[in-house]
Amino acid sequence: MPTKRAAFRNERPSQFHHSTSLALTIHRSARSPSLTPQRLSKREEQIATMAVGVLALQGSFNEHIAALRRLGVKGVEIRKPEQLQSVGSLIIPGGESTTMAKLAHFHNLFPALREFVKMGKPVWGTCAGLIFLADKVTGQKAGGQDLIGGLDCTVHRNYFGSQIQSFEVDLPVPELAAKEGGPDTFRGVFIRAPAILEVGPQVEVLADYPVPSEKPMDEAHEENKGSEKKVIVAVRQGNLLGTAFHPELTADSRWHTYFLKMASEIEGGASNSIVAVEGGDLTFNPQPNNDLPIFQ
Ligand code: GLN
Repeated sequence: MPTKRAAFRNERPSQFHHSTSLALTIHRSARSPSLTPQRLSKREEQIATMAVGVLALQGSFNEHIAALRRLGVKGVEIRKPEQLQSVGSLIIPGGESTTMAKLAHFHNLFPALREFVKMGKPVWGTCAGLIFLADKVTGQKAGGQDLIGGLDCTVHRNYFGSQIQSFEVDLPVPELAAKEGGPDTFRGVFIRAPAILEVGPQVEVLADYPVPSEKPMDEAHEENKGSEKKVIVAVRQGNLLGTAFHPELTADSRWHTYFLKMASEIEGGASNSIVAVEGGDLTFNPQPNNDLPIFQ
């Protein structure tokens, strides 16, 4: 029985199909994708290109990498522009968007990040990451902050209030449940969370949440105030996925599997689109093997 490490070193690609309808095929890769792709062999480069990048400047990037690992998928920390060449998709974690923007600016990451989005590569922004992807943001600090943009929506940066107004809720997620199975709700962990106030016509709404009664809709978006009084908290627009909450802090991996399958489809339904570090299972698993303390 090979150890995990030994399995990592096995360079021969072995394929397996997971059991959901989408036949996502995964290559097991041994090597951690190098941060200097030019030194890789052709085969290694091909594998490295397919890893999932996680922007690792600040915030919950470790938790995303752990969530990917629980699915048997390799996540690669991204801190420099050239490192984006070694991944096929990207997760931008939650954290603090102003700080993250300053760090991204310091590392000259914005041009490469914008290019990544423009190239149609799959990108998922959670919380601060969602703010990064929005075309328009309200409630920014004085002077604003750089954004990647691409997602045709207006996001309110701290819609639900300050840190102490953070909350958890069982969020209805019909589209997610239809695609990934499991319960109709997802445990939404909202930490000083943003909300999406407006979306463009190309944006698919995947989850919304009732506006707290003490909180009227942002005045600038008064016209949105319908009988339903809801704000949007999860969206997809082509290659972009955005969630206002933190799936990586829960044991429910369905948003991660949703993104991986989305990435696989975008990358051409390719047989080698995702790098697995170990036999992964992208099906809904109510009792996953957790390797970081997370909500259960
Ligand atoms: N509202 C925060 C911000 O402005 C994001 C919070 C989060 O990522 N949990 O960056």
